[in-house]
Amino acid sequence: MQKTLVWFRNDLRLHDNAALRFAAESGSVLPVFILEEIEGEAPEPGAASRWWLHHSLHALNESLDGKLVCRRGDALSIIRELVQECEIDAVVWNRRYLQHQIEQDKTIKQQLKDDGLSVRSFQGDVLWEPWTILTQQETPYKVFTPYYNKGCLKADPPAEPIAAPLKIISYVKKRPEGEPSDLGLLPEHPWHKKLADHWEPGERGAASRLEQFLDGPVENYKEGRDFPALNAVSRLSPHLHFGEVSPRTVWHKSKDAAASSQSETQIEHFLRELGWREFSYYLLFHFPQVTRDNLQTKFDDFPWRSDPAALKAWQKGRTGYPIVDAGMRELWETGYMHNRVRMIVGSFLVKNLLIHWHEGADWFFDCLVDADVPNNSASWQWVAGSGADASPFFRIFNPVTQSEKFDPDGDYVRRFVPELKSLPDKYLHDPGNAPADVLRKAGVTLGKTYPEPLVELKGSRQRALQAYEKIKKS
Ligand code: FAD
Repeated sequence: MQKTLVWFRNDLRLHDNAALRFAAESGSVLPVFILEEIEGEAPEPGAASRWWLHHSLHALNESLDGKLVCRRGDALSIIRELVQECEIDAVVWNRRYLQHQIEQDKTIKQQLKDDGLSVRSFQGDVLWEPWTILTQQETPYKVFTPYYNKGCLKADPPAEPIAAPLKIISYVKKRPEGEPSDLGLLPEHPWHKKLADHWEPGERGAASRLEQFLDGPVENYKEGRDFPALNAVSRLSPHLHFGEVSPRTVWHKSKDAAASSQSETQIEHFLRELGWREFSYYLLFHFPQVTRDNLQTKFDDFPWRSDPAALKAWQKGRTGYPIVDAGMRELWETGYMHNRVRMIVGSFLVKNLLIHWHEGADWFFDCLVDADVPNNSASWQWVAGSGADASPFFRIFNPVTQSEKFDPDGDYVRRFVPELKSLPDKYLHDPGNAPADVLRKAGVTLGKTYPEPLVELKGSRQRALQAYEKIKKS
């Protein structure tokens, strides 16, 4: 009977967990989660993520009959302490793919091997490990479509998910200290309480969300996914980030659903979006600088503006552009923002306000329940035009026409910006241009009940294009 320590990281589940399954089949298991303190390497989890992690760890602990050991600090020292205390023979984990995590895992693996332990790692939460997908010239892809179509879809299909262990024998003479609550993850500010109205963190919540999505909303995914008022997207992103469901499970359950329904095209489109998640992880593996540095270095000379008041107005959803404000308030209230709206608020910050994408990425990182370094960094660089396969800088979303197109009945705006709810649809998307009597009738006083537009759209667009001209040729 081997005694194996399973180091849980971004894989807080029993199903399709190769490391756990291996440990359970080899003997007894000590499940461990470590809240690492690594200065400077990665941003600290934001308040919304900490709330999620707290509940996800509680859910995992419950599935493990209360045996999950949770500690905070340096991973290697904690693992060594537990190895000694519990007479552990082997340590296992599922791989992570950010460069600093890979370096850290390599070092820990070597040190533990030097201590005489057996150490094994298994494929982590990607469909294809990043080094397995390369161009014919053996170089990494930089553009999504060939990466996905020629690289991923021509490679071996993602592995079938592994079943949860039938039995997990726990090895504890005396249970080591460390409950999920000891990590002190819940933010002091009661702001997080409202998140519970929208989410069920944990493996059970993830499974039921996937099931519900494949049971109905997916049928309208391809067209519906751009309309934030519709229930047409999966909202699986935080569950995927914390590894409460694996991308392989999502992939194969979706394929099964496609085989038994009329929704094959819709489901293929959904899987392609999951492909964007892969691409983010892939990019950060091959180009680790993407986390913070512009992939297109000409953007290093971009004349960003410092405007703390405008940044604050954007963060608080008080820009005077209803779709932007609705998105920023959705984020604040629910820890989530619809993808179409993420693109609109991102374009507004970076292009109309000319504020550095870092400011947007940092705010998102603090507020999103799905805050995820690869997806967040790659997406912000995409929005800014500085990344791989990025939306070109000169493509500047007009928040009014985007709102008219993707929230035509104004349901999304009215939900999150209720002070505008009585405005007729015609003026709801652009109250700054509504006639005075229409505003009066709807009970809206610009500058009092709702802000005046923070910038003028045409002028700020021109300013952005001029700024881009300065760096275009370099
Ligand atoms: P669905 O449409 O149901 O898609 C299913 C899954 O595919 C998602 O859960 C996600 O894992 C993946 N996915 C979908 N779209 C994208 C995309 N454009 N890029 C990468 N993966 C995608 N996603 C995060 O998970 N964490 C982030 O921190 C994050 N920050 C973002 C910042 C900006 C500025 C933008 C424009 C996008 C960001 N995204 C991020 C990507 C995307 O908005 C979310 O993944 C998506 O909205 C999550 O909702 P969903 O689960 O309902 O997506």
